[in-house]
Amino acid sequence: MKAVFFNQHGGPEVLQYGDFPDPTPDPGSVTVRLQAAALNRMDIWVRNGWPGQKLDLPHIPGADGAGVVTAVTPPIPPGFQIAPGDRVVINSNLGCGTCDACQAGRDNLCRDWRLLGESLRGTYAEYACVPARQVYRLPDGLDFQAAAAAALVFHTAWHSLVRRGQVQAGEWVLVVGASGGVNTASIQVARSLGATVVAVGSGAEKLALAASLGARHLVDRSREPDWPKAVFNLTGRRGVDVVVDNVGTTFPSSLRTLRKGGRLLTVGNTGGAQVAFDNRFVFGKHLSILGSSMGALADFDEVLTRLGRGEFKAVLDRAYPLAEARQAQGRLEAGEQLGKVTLSIP
Ligand SMILES: [Zn+2]
Repeated sequence: MKAVFFNQHGGPEVLQYGDFPDPTPDPGSVTVRLQAAALNRMDIWVRNGWPGQKLDLPHIPGADGAGVVTAVTPPIPPGFQIAPGDRVVINSNLGCGTCDACQAGRDNLCRDWRLLGESLRGTYAEYACVPARQVYRLPDGLDFQAAAAAALVFHTAWHSLVRRGQVQAGEWVLVVGASGGVNTASIQVARSLGATVVAVGSGAEKLALAASLGARHLVDRSREPDWPKAVFNLTGRRGVDVVVDNVGTTFPSSLRTLRKGGRLLTVGNTGGAQVAFDNRFVFGKHLSILGSSMGALADFDEVLTRLGRGEFKAVLDRAYPLAEARQAQGRLEAGEQLGKVTLSIP
């Protein structure tokens, strides 16, 4: 098959496009002929590498993918109804399926949890094999690009806001950053729950996107350096109930915007992993910091069902041919995108 892979860590130049052996299907798996893949920031971290990272090189990046089932390899779980020819999207969040956490439907807490494209070869390729429970049949009207672009970010945002954050109708939710994949999903999820959404972003174009997705109040941090104060004033000096902060380095500011008893939700740190903050805000204001990563299988079904109904929409930036994955990652690294950068695998 054709694939994008790397033999050593480094910048975008280590990505190669060429022939790669087809994946070997495990028992209980489905083989998917991918039509679209979507980029995530994790792809760049995996490519750059980190100390102690264990990777079977050459590695194929990519967590998000959608395509057509070409083979189903038995044994297949009871009740499983996927067949060759079905259009599917992949859930890249891989639990073992047998441990206590997986049995309880909390597979993202699995002890042997793995992520497609991180520790296993991923979706920048013509074919991928995944356990049968990891695919969801696409409803009519949801195309491959949109499904690949939406799957991981909505799965992540839904689990964070609904399961971890317990966001309620009438609450104020601040989303820090207006244009990234998880943030554009978080705005839509918070809005669908009946929350009043405030988006902090930089520049009119990104904020206009946030408004189009349901943010009622916009704060341009390039014009409001003291944006926590601006947010605080918006709420009548009460503070917001929930902050979605996936930047990390903005924690000190985010903690300032919260009301007493508020929650800070985080699923990532696009601005950097190390952050110092004033702990007096946390105990003095009775704040909760709630982390999560991806979501459970049931969350995946929930968000894909809602995407199929048109309740949520994928925000698509630009699609590159698979062979141009290097340029696609460059766009993501430069922060030029509005929404998701995808790969087309015809
Ligand atoms: Zn497990």
